[in-house]
Formats: sequence, C-alpha cells, structure tokens
Amino acid sequence: MFRSSLFLKTFTTIAGGVIVMCALFYFTTVPMIKSMAFEMEEKAGRVILNNFYLLIEQSHADLESLKTTALNARKRELRHLVELVVSDINAEVKSREGFDRNWEETKRRVLEKLRYLRYGQQQDYIWVADYNSRLISHPDPRLNGKDFSNIKDVKGNLIVPSMVKGALAHVEGYYRYWWRRLGRDEPIEKLSYYRNLPSFGWVIGTGVYIDDFRKEVEARKNELLNELRSLIYKTKVAGEGYLYIFDSNKNMIIHPNPNIENTNFSKLLDPSSKKPIADELIKAARMPGGKLAYMWDKPTDPGNYIYKKVAWVRYFPGFDWYIVISVYNKDLEKGAVALTRRIVIISLGALLFAIIGGYLFVRAFTTPIARMAESANRISKGELSSIELEREDEIGLLAEAFNNMVVRMKDQIRHLEARVDERTGELSGHLTALKERNKEIETINYMGDMFQACHNPDEIYSIMIDTIEKLFPESAGQIMELHTAGKSLEVVASWGDLEKDPDIVFKPDDCWSIRRGKTHYIEGANGAMTCLHIKRTVPPSMSWICIPMSAQGEIFGVLHTRFSDKRAEDESRRNRHRVLETVAEQAALSLSNIRLQQRLREQSIKDALTGLYNRRYTQEVMKLEQKRADRQGDSIGVLLMDIDNFKKINDTFGHDAGDEVLKRIAGILGGVFRANDTICRYGGEEFLVIMPGTESDSAIQKAEAMRDAVEHDLKFSWHGEQISVTVSIGVASYPFERLPISRIIDLADKALYKAKKQGRNRVETFSV
Ligand code: GH3
Ligand code: MG
Ligand code: MG
Repeated sequence: MFRSSLFLKTFTTIAGGVIVMCALFYFTTVPMIKSMAFEMEEKAGRVILNNFYLLIEQSHADLESLKTTALNARKRELRHLVELVVSDINAEVKSREGFDRNWEETKRRVLEKLRYLRYGQQQDYIWVADYNSRLISHPDPRLNGKDFSNIKDVKGNLIVPSMVKGALAHVEGYYRYWWRRLGRDEPIEKLSYYRNLPSFGWVIGTGVYIDDFRKEVEARKNELLNELRSLIYKTKVAGEGYLYIFDSNKNMIIHPNPNIENTNFSKLLDPSSKKPIADELIKAARMPGGKLAYMWDKPTDPGNYIYKKVAWVRYFPGFDWYIVISVYNKDLEKGAVALTRRIVIISLGALLFAIIGGYLFVRAFTTPIARMAESANRISKGELSSIELEREDEIGLLAEAFNNMVVRMKDQIRHLEARVDERTGELSGHLTALKERNKEIETINYMGDMFQACHNPDEIYSIMIDTIEKLFPESAGQIMELHTAGKSLEVVASWGDLEKDPDIVFKPDDCWSIRRGKTHYIEGANGAMTCLHIKRTVPPSMSWICIPMSAQGEIFGVLHTRFSDKRAEDESRRNRHRVLETVAEQAALSLSNIRLQQRLREQSIKDALTGLYNRRYTQEVMKLEQKRADRQGDSIGVLLMDIDNFKKINDTFGHDAGDEVLKRIAGILGGVFRANDTICRYGGEEFLVIMPGTESDSAIQKAEAMRDAVEHDLKFSWHGEQISVTVSIGVASYPFERLPISRIIDLADKALYKAKKQGRNRVETFSV
C-alpha cells in the first residue's frame, strides 16, 4: 500500500497527539483518582468507625439511663417500704393503746417485730437506730444493740451517725456506704433510706445492695456486647478490613477472630516497630485523626507480616474502650485500581479509535494528494499522465484542475517539441556551418602564420594553393603574377584540373578583376564578361572567380579559382568568396612585405641614382668570386671605367645633366654586360665591372664594346643643347702574380690612368 510522507507526517502527528493526550490524561488523572478513591475508602472506613462509636455511645447512654432508672426505682421502693412499715408501726401503736398503756413495752414489741421482718429475694431488712447511733433493732444479732456512733465503713465514712444527722435535719434521706451483705464478709456498696420517727426518738431505715440492681445493668451491657459483637463480626470494611474493640488493660473485648477475643494482647508486638501493637494503637487514638499505619498478617496467611495495613482508633471513655477499624491498604486501593483499570481500558479504546479513525481520515485526504504528488513527480520526469480520481470534494476539484493542467502541458510540450525540432534542424545547420567556419578560420590562421615565414612569392603561392585545396578540395585554379612594370600577367602557380596548363603570359587587361580592381565572379561561360585569360571553355556547370591580390595600393596578381558546383547556395558561395578573398588579401599583404624587404635589401646594396651595385656590395661579391675562381681555376675580368671630362659637363649643363649622363651610362652598362657580371658604381663617375669566368682578352673585348657603345649611343639633348660623352676604361684580370682581387682593381686603375694619359676614349690593359 502506498505511503506518502505527508500521510506519515499527518498520521504520526495525530497518533502522537492522541498518545500524548492519553498519557497526559493518565498521568494527571490517574494519581488523582487513585488518591480520591483511596480517600473515599478511608472515609468510608472512618464513617463505619464513627457509626460504631455513635452506636456504642448511644448504648452507653442507654445503660447509664438504665442505671439511673433502676436506682430511682429502688429508692422509691425503699421509701415506700419504710412508709409501709411506719404506718404499720403507727397502726400497731394505736391498737395497743387499749391494752396496755406501757409505751416502753409497745416500743419493745415494735422493735422486736421489725427485727424479724424480711423482704425481697436478698433477704433485705429494716434497721432502727436511736439518736445516739445505737442500732436498737437489727436482724444481725452481732449488730443488734451495737453502738455505731464510731463505726465507719471500708472507705472510712461514719455510717449510722451520718444517717441520724440527716434524719434529724431533713426527716428522711438516702445514704450510700459500703457494707457487708448478711452472711457475707466482703463489703459492697449499699444504698439506704432513712427516716426520723420523732415520736419514738428513732431513725428507721432499710438498704439495698447496689450490686443487686447493677446486675441488671450488666446483663443489659452483655446483651449490648453480644449485639455489637454480632454486628462487628458481620461488618467488613473495604474488602478484608475489620473492627475490633479492646480496653485500656489491652484485653480484646470484641474481635472477629475467636482465638484473639477475650485474650490480653499487651505482649503482642508490631513486628516492624518491635513495640506492642496495643501501645501503638492507644498512642494513635490520642493523635488527631487516630491513624496508625503498620504491617500485619492476614487471616488467610497467618504469621506472614507483609501486608500493609492502616488502622483508625477511637477511645470511648464511657466503657474505657478502644474501637479500632483496621484495613488492608490493598483493599483501600482496590477501588482505585479498578477505576484506574477502567480508565486505562477506556483510554486505550479511545487511543485505538483515534488511531484507526485518524488513519482512515488522514488516508482519505493524503492518498489523493500523494497520488497527485506522484503524478507531478512523474510529470517532472517527463511522463505526462493524469490522475484517476473521482471525488465530489475539493480534492476531486484539485485533481480535475491537475488533469486539465496535464492536458495543457501535453499540448504545450507537443508545441515546444515541434519548435525544438525546428530549431534543432536550424541549429545543426548552423553548427555545421560554424564548424566549417572554424576549420576555415583555423586553416587561414595557419596560412597567415606560414606566410610570416616566407621569403619569396613562390613560397607564398604554394601555401595559398595548399590552403585552398584543403578548404575547397573540389576547386581548381591559377595564381597569376602581375609583373613589376605592370605590363604582363603571368601564371606562376596552379592546382586542380588547371595544374597541367602551360604557363602563359597575359595582358593585365585580359582579367576583369584587374581592370575593375575587385572580385569578379561569373557562373558558366558568360560571353563578354568572361576574362580573356580563361582560354578553355568553362562548362555551364562551372563557376569561377578572379580576385585581385592587392595591398598598399599595389596589385601583385590575381587569384583565379574555379568550382564545378555553380549552384552552391548563396550563403555558402558568399562565404567561399569571402574565404578566397581573405586568402588573396593575406597573400597580397605578405607579397607586399616580401617586396618591401627586397627593396630594402636592394637599397642597401645598390646605388640610388644608377641602380647599380654600390662599392661595399661589390667588395663582398669580389671576395666570393675570388674564392670561386680559386676553387674552379677560373679567371675574373676586372674593368674600371671613368667618364672623360665629366667635370665640364657639370660645369656646362649643370649637375642634373651630369646625373642624367650617369643614369644613361648605367643603362648602357646593363645592356653590354651579362647577368652574372657585377656592375658597380665605384665612386663619382667611375664604374667597376667584375666579370667572373672571363679571360683578359674577352674582358678587353667587352671593354671595347662598352667604350664604343658610349661613344655612339650616348647622345642626347638637354634644354636644346646636345650632350655626348666618352669613357676611358682600364682592364686587368685575376689571377695575376698571386695578388688579391682588391689589388687587381689597383692594376685596372693604373690601366685607366694610362688610357686617360694616352688621350681618353680608349681601352688600356694593365701590363707589367
Ligand atoms: P678626366 O677624368 O678626363 O681627367 O677629366 P674630368 O673632368 O672627368 O676630371 P675629374 O675626374 O677630376 O672630375 C670628376 C668630376 O665628376 C668632379 C665632380 O664634379 C664630377 N662628379 C663626380 N660625381 C658626380 C655626380 O654624381 N654627378 C655629377 N653631376 N657630377 C659628378
Ligand atoms: Mg674621375
Ligand atoms: Mg673623369
């Protein structure tokens, strides 16, 4: 079954809350209920004790009233008796008045009669005493006639004199004293009624032993005890608790255990305190509350003093009784335990109900949410699925909204995917183009690097071709160089199908790109716009392009390229053109650099005015030529030439005219001598020519040819004036007598001097 974290959280919270509440309820309520139940049981115990106390008190009061009633009845009885006797005496005296007038005899007879009078079960009697406290009539012969004026009872009180005194003062009265019963020795309390008989001078009385009516009270008391006993036996306090009564002599008066009843338990010890339990109970009775806690055994487990008990004690002074109620704590707690158990059961029931209810409730609303969350999760992973959930409540609405959202998302995604596909196609096109561009840029950069290291145009051309072949393998083409004078366009390098074409020279105007000074592009053979240098018919599928290679305002040539795919797309074609233009441009820049370097180099070795080598360079050349000549056993012709009377030209026509003469001389020199001869302006108007591999005769011939050429060719007009010059030439040749070539020049100079000396315009050779 699915369990979401939301479910777990909510459910745990609810269950936790319920558990906590139950626990709180249990821990706060249960102790209270326990103590309340305990107190109630305790109270119930006390109520029982008090009820018993009241019952005993009531009984005591009954007994006391019984006692009083009995005493009063006795008293009345005694009085009535004495009155009866007195009226009898009076009748006797009256009857005797006729017979004898002897008063003393009458008195004697009366006394005699009274002495033998007995009444009641206890043989009670009437006594008579005179005012001197002599017993003048008493049934006991030992006492009859005895003077009692000094006789006291066991408690030390005068007996007869007290009653005589009372009778004289109040006529009649009651008196208590201690006296022996007739025929018995031990004194017992006696109540007597006495009455004064003034006509006789007697005090007459009768008594009753209090014991006699006390027995009645005792009987009543015993009856009460029996009633109490049966009541106590029957009474159970809080389970196994019970009542008992003992007196201050620690005699067990009433106890439900017949073995203990009527025994003295003053020696019975409380096993935990080692003190007599009776003393402890008596002590507790004096305390407020009258409570004693102790350990005791059980009737069902005698002698095992392990049970906690509590006793409440009340002392009843009327009977000198201690009334005890003693209960086992267990019994007191029983109610609390039962109640606690009930609370726990109810709590557990509530807990179970809450957990199951909570579970069902939480599940009812978390399951759909979890399912939605699951769906959302699936969606986040790209799996678009809706939730199947049909409910009438807000969750149902939510699910519906969710499903609508999913449907919309699906649409959106479809739309997006379509757009992405579209864009991907575009991008991959772009990417390929970009890759191509990168390759081009890299290749061109590499080409640029290589150009830096080139020393001459040929190297530039071959790198150009390598680069173009790499970038456009399907292409073919030619590089045409525009010659310095700008008069011819010569194919100097080619690639592809054109490689085998013979080198041809065109006129610069044969190429439209040179004429227009910009890239010229043509597709197929296109009549008039086709450059003349494209000899071969260009197939219709071909396209071709001529790019002028120009830099620093100087055109170095044309880059001519052909492609077989004339239908290449505009963009790629434009790009192709751009690349080729870049190649041409960079090549032109490098060619310009090389040309510049060449010029600089030439300037350092050539004379600016005549373009002939300068003296410093010629000296270097001479050293090399001398070494080569030495190695090959060749000779070098050395020729030193000086213009005749040059000073005069300067003086006559001006310095510019002199310069013009020098330039023209140089031109003639270039025409007369071979390419590998080194012609040098040696200084001023003197020229030196080094002719490697030239013997002395050939050198003389060359010198003669030179001299002749100057004499006949160098004629020109200068501001209307005709100028012509001649030259004198001295010739020497190396080797000569192991002299270094520099010294050979001296020899040529000597020959020149000789020519000057012999009339100028002539050639002289050095001879020893
Ligand atoms: P010759 O050699 O026949 O004895 O007579 P010369 O007149 O040529 O005599 P010299 O050698 O003494 O004179 C050389 C003159 O050439 C001196 C100088 O003015 C001139 N000269 C030297 N270099 C140049 C130059 O570059 N231009 C011009 N215009 N004159 C120059
Ligand atoms: Mg000179
Ligand atoms: Mg001169």
